[in-house]
Formats: sequence, structure tokens, C-alpha cells
Amino acid sequence: MTQVCAIDVGGTTVKAGILDDHGQLLHTTTAPTPIGRDSDARAVVDLVSTLANQLSDRHGAAAVGVVVPGIVDEARGLGVWSQNLGWRDVPMRELLAERIGAPVAFGHDVRAGGLAEARLGAGRGHESLLFLPVGTGIAAAIVLDGRCYSAGGWAGEIGHVDVGYEQSCYCGLRGCLEAVSSGAAIARRYAAKAGRRPAGAAEVAALALSGDVVAESVWSDAIGGLAHALAWSASVLAPGVIVLGGGLADAGQRRLLNPLRERLAARLSYQRVPEVVPAELGDRAGCVGAGLMAFDLLESR
Ligand SMILES: [Zn+2]
Repeated sequence: MTQVCAIDVGGTTVKAGILDDHGQLLHTTTAPTPIGRDSDARAVVDLVSTLANQLSDRHGAAAVGVVVPGIVDEARGLGVWSQNLGWRDVPMRELLAERIGAPVAFGHDVRAGGLAEARLGAGRGHESLLFLPVGTGIAAAIVLDGRCYSAGGWAGEIGHVDVGYEQSCYCGLRGCLEAVSSGAAIARRYAAKAGRRPAGAAEVAALALSGDVVAESVWSDAIGGLAHALAWSASVLAPGVIVLGGGLADAGQRRLLNPLRERLAARLSYQRVPEVVPAELGDRAGCVGAGLMAFDLLESR
């Protein structure tokens, strides 16, 4: 049985484990992401290589897959930019390979999650899909005809298209999807309008359902923003399925999926209306995807 080591570097937590060739994630462990002035990503490289070597020594791994957030150029093995973690143009794959005693696959967290949902999760059976984790931020993974589309790391930045709500965004633009529909934006917009900070987007969803008018309006804008962005995506890419993940998807079928399906369908006419389904792999998707990339690397050698 072949198995690989899989590591997902998140904005706050690093998740690591062993992925077997049945797609099972085993021996998982987590560590806080070293955050601070890390423009050369040294602290992250230290932590990831230590975790990879420990897991490989204990359980055996034929290769290691590592995924990180931000703009990632898989072809060149480059961490181009990470807003959260502060690095720029770091030759991550090379730095990791120097420290890890196994072949290293390097990629992007959201695209890895998309790959995992496509092969093992909610996208099974579809050749093309859009994977949209909606959490603190919003980015998309685009799987076309079975392959993850990267465009040098620049594809999938759906969070910063104007969906028409005049909300200013930290990126400098106005009306961004992320400024209206991300979990953080929903909480922030509710706080601004209601004068009270909610526990999070889930509380706003619950309040909307119980008839709180401010929450209804904020939640409705969030769904409207998503419907707008997904109508564009469905028209341009025609994915068979849109897989919604991240914290917002936990808000559930009644609060999120059904109204989103309705409002998306209302924005499409003759175009193919994609299925909209919840992700199946939860917060394991990135880690499982990192492992799948490591298996792909072994296969290509
Ligand atoms: Zn923006």
C-alpha cells in the first residue's frame, strides 16, 4: 500500500496527516501557523518540513504534498504572494525539497480542496466543477474537464468581482463579492447596521430566519452577491456542479443552498443551470487535496 504525507498551511492552523491510496486521511495533527514578519516564509518552511519528516518517519510516506494560501504558481513551485502570511515570491517547493527526504508536490489550498471534492467528495461524477469555499475570504477552484485550472496562480479570484452592492473592500475596489458575502463581511455588515456585533455569520443566518429585519437584509445581500458571481461563472465556464464549502456552507440547506439555487436559476435563461451542493470533505479538503497532488507527482515520475 502506498501512502503520502499531506500538509495544508492555513491562515491560522497547519493541518497535516497521512493519505492512503483509498483516500483516507490518517494520523492527523495540527499546529498553529507561525505568523509574523515572514516575508521569506522561513518559519513556515521550518514547521512544514519538521511535520513532514516526523509523519514520514513514523508512518512511511512515498511523497509529500504541501498546499498554501494566497497566489501560488504550481508550475514554478512559487509562493507568489500571501496577504495573511506576508510572503512574496518564495521558491517554496525548492526550500521544502531541501529539507524533506521525499519528493515534494506544492500547490494552492483552494485548488487542492477543489481537486479533493472533484475526485472524492461532492463533485464525483462531474468533469467540470467550481469549488467555492466561503469563509473569512472567498476564492474559487476551477476544475475543467477533470483538470484544475491555475493560470500561473491567478485563476479563481472570484472574491473581488463587483457584485453590485457598493460596499468598499480592503483590496481597494468597491462592490466586491468578498465584501458582501464572506462570513466576515456578513458579521461586519450586520454589526454596522444593527449596532451590535454578532458571534458570526451563522448567528446572522439564524436571526434572519427568525425574522430580524436587519439580519434578513444582510443575509439576502450575501446570497444575492453569490448568485450574481455564480451566474457569471456558470455562463462562462458551465460547470456541472458548484460545490459550496467553508464556514458559510455550515449555515445549511434552508438558509443558504435553497435561496441561492433559486436566485442563481433566476439569473440564468438558456444557460446550463449547475447543481449547487454542499462540500463533503469539510475542512479536510485542502489536506486531502495536498495528498492527491503527492500521489499525482508519484504517478508522473
Ligand atoms: Zn475586493
